[in-house]
Amino acid sequence: MSKYRIGLYPGTFDPITNGHIDIVKRGLRLVDKLIIGVATNPSKNPMFSLEERVEMVERELKPLAEEVGVDFEVQQFDELLMHFAEKVNATVIIRGLRAVADFEYEFQMTGMNYQINPNIETLFLMADPRYQTIASKLVKEVALYGGEIAPFVPATIAEAVRAKIADAK
Ligand code: ADP
Repeated sequence: MSKYRIGLYPGTFDPITNGHIDIVKRGLRLVDKLIIGVATNPSKNPMFSLEERVEMVERELKPLAEEVGVDFEVQQFDELLMHFAEKVNATVIIRGLRAVADFEYEFQMTGMNYQINPNIETLFLMADPRYQTIASKLVKEVALYGGEIAPFVPATIAEAVRAKIADAK
């Protein structure tokens, strides 16, 4: 029996990095449709507005999905992840694991999510070692102090980060 698999990759994407992109490329091999869930996350005090993050994610990732013929959508969400996953009919949630530091949090969250809905599986993917240490938070910090962020994000994103910092000054 064939089954149309819908994967949900949630995150803040403030901004999208080469690490996220690597995880998405891997995720695209595993599902028939990939939904990127951009979390509002006001508590994280994002550098980019929700609209900007959605737009950047769409611009960077849509061509990758098209290239491999996987259905693709970017949606924003502001609710419990599992509720959003149910609403979009996701059967699998994709998360990236960077280092040991990510593990504790992801371990707890996944355990609780399994109790909320045991039918939705969470799948952890590891990025290529070249991208494993990239984090949106550090990209912003490096840029803020005038460091070069070109190795960590696509060129258009690096430009957007620089522009944001220039605006704020
Ligand atoms: P969140 O607010 O959920 O942490 P992020 O945008 O920071 O959102 O990350 C979304 C997902 O992508 C998380 O599962 C995170 O672990 C993963 N991720 C981010 N950067 C990397 C990376 N460099 N390598 C692997 N996974 C990553």
